[in-house]
This record gives sequence, structure tokens and C-alpha cells, in this order.
Amino acid sequence: MKTAIYPGTFDPITNGHIDILHKASKLFDRVILAVAAVTGKNTMFNLEERTEICKEACSHLPKVEVISFDGLSVEFADSMSADAMIRGLRAVSDFEYELSLALMNKNLNNQIETVFFVPDNKYLYLSSTMIRQIVGLQGDVKEMIPQCVEKAMKKKLERKNAK
Ligand code: ADP
Repeated sequence: MKTAIYPGTFDPITNGHIDILHKASKLFDRVILAVAAVTGKNTMFNLEERTEICKEACSHLPKVEVISFDGLSVEFADSMSADAMIRGLRAVSDFEYELSLALMNKNLNNQIETVFFVPDNKYLYLSSTMIRQIVGLQGDVKEMIPQCVEKAMKKKLERKNAK
């Protein structure tokens, strides 16, 4: 039984993340989408909201479980007896950051391998940051995020605007 964790902020989860989960499900028996509590980012959704949205967006993926975690991702991976940590690589710009993160994680725990997945072409340009900006400007994001994510984002913005 091979287990992988896929840690990230997922603010919000996009079809790019889901594409990576599809690919990881072919290689691993269990894939844990690990929603980070500490992100160093000013997030649109709080931890509970990000976790709930991920659960709904991944309900059609039988091998995927969504769990939130606090602290170091390698420690969470260890507590889940995971063999690997998954990350996604889009453009070359991701590479330097992702490589240093993988090397640092290797330093912290030598037992957990980082495995990189490259998404399908149509998701290469997709980021959660861009999605937040487009939705904020009422742009069309139907092809880029699951319907439940779009609904949650619109609700969040309506509440914010009503204040
Ligand atoms: P973090 O804040 O840890 O970078 P993200 O939720 O932004 O969390 O991303 C989690 C992982 O998913 C990262 O490795 C990121 O490069 C990857 N990722 C994000 N968007 C895409 C995408 N469109 N295609 C492939 N991988 C992606």
C-alpha cells in the first residue's frame, strides 16, 4: 500500500490541482490532500473553509482523502506513514522554489521522497492567485475550477461586498 500526501494552501483548489490528483491516483493507493493551516499567505478562505471546499471538489476521487494539518508537511507525512510527498510543476518559474522546498524537506526527513507531477497543457497557466483575481473581477472561470468552488467564491465575495 503506497501512500502520498499532496500538501498545499488550496486557496482555492483548482482544476490544475485536481488534474495532479488524477495522475497521482494512478501511481498511489492512497492520496491525502493535505490542507495547510500555516501558509504564510493572506488567504481568501480560512482553514475550515478550504478543507470543506476540497472535500466537496474531490468527492468523485475514490483514492483521495482530504485532511488539514498544522506544522511541517514532512511531520504530517510521517504521521500518515506516507511514502511520498506530491507537488505540481507548471512553468520553469515553479522549479527553483519547488526544488529548494524538496531539498529542505529531504533534509528534515530523508525517508519521504518528493514526487513532481506536470499537469496537462491546459492547466499550465492556472494558479489559485489568478482564479481569485478573475473571480473578483467577475470573469468566467468555468473551465478552471469545479462548480462547487465557483459557488463558494461567489458567496464569499457577496458577503464581503455586503459589509
Ligand atoms: P502552496 O502554497 O504550498 O504552493 P498551492 O495550493 O498554491 O500551495 O499549490 C500546491 C501545489 O500544487 C504546488 O506544488 C503547486 O506548484 C501545485 N499547483 C498549483 N496549481 C497547479 C496547476 N495548475 N497545475 C499543476 N500544479 C499546480
